[in-house]
Amino acid sequence: MTSVAKPFASSADVQEKTETLEVIADGVYALTAEGDPNVGAIEGEDFVVAFEARATPVMARRWLDQLREHTDKPVKYLVLSHYHAVRVLGASAFDADVVIAHDQTRRLIAERGRADWESERGRMPRLFTGEASIPGLTWPDLTFTDQLTIDLGGDRGEVVLQYCGRGHTAGDIVLWLPRQRVLFAGDLVEAQAALYTGDAFHADWSTGTLDRVRELGAEALVGGRGAVALGRAAVDAAIDQTRDFLLVMREKVGEVHAAGGSLRDAFQATHAALAPRYGRWPIFEHCLPFNVQRLWDELDGVDWPRVWTAERDREVWNELQG
Ligand SMILES: [Zn+2]
Repeated sequence: MTSVAKPFASSADVQEKTETLEVIADGVYALTAEGDPNVGAIEGEDFVVAFEARATPVMARRWLDQLREHTDKPVKYLVLSHYHAVRVLGASAFDADVVIAHDQTRRLIAERGRADWESERGRMPRLFTGEASIPGLTWPDLTFTDQLTIDLGGDRGEVVLQYCGRGHTAGDIVLWLPRQRVLFAGDLVEAQAALYTGDAFHADWSTGTLDRVRELGAEALVGGRGAVALGRAAVDAAIDQTRDFLLVMREKVGEVHAAGGSLRDAFQATHAALAPRYGRWPIFEHCLPFNVQRLWDELDGVDWPRVWTAERDREVWNELQG
């Protein structure tokens, strides 16, 4: 008997997902795709605010074609919740006047945008359909530190872009609609999809950052992946599940780290603790080696996450999942 090694990250995930456009409130749209990255759009009086850009312009156009069945207003603002390639490299398809992100996202693009592109393409090749259509790295036109508000015009209310603290990356922002009470949370919250924490700040994310997200009191939440959470109970459940995932990781990796164990021991203990609840969720096996490595670094006192490269991805994968 020989055991078969797990295929690297999501490289064996070649099955196209079913996309669903949901109208969450008047002029508020989300496209979910069975655990693939979610995107959204908010209709203003004369323009659209788009949230997330997908991995390539070809993939982004598939989303825009569906959005165009509901509104033909031009995309004035494109909001990027954070820098990850699968959410930003399709930006050119939107032809937006202003691309908005957090200050730290600009820093991360400059520091690691190219390496992240190669890393994510290797991990999730299916999401990079039409990669030749990417004109280069996506740069924001406008960045901010704490909060930025966009008036939607008419009686449509406003979009509040809010930084809630360090979390999934150093520069995540959420898009909050106070009038409609709808929250687009990016990868700070996942709804029945595994977390990716390879660039994360586990201690901050699992405490104050998620507290701030919860305090908004959303009644509908679009997470980074997974179904839309509708109703306060479902919203709180998604936030609580995200926190639980992080707390179990902190506990298990923390125990092995404190006891002088190995990274591999930490991976196995964390996998065993999380798998009964989360093992069947999208990208669980893919993410966990990178997650444990980053948390291990964090416990070692490495504050600023190390850069993932295609080579380092393989090394960590082979050490932990091989
Ligand atoms: Zn991400």
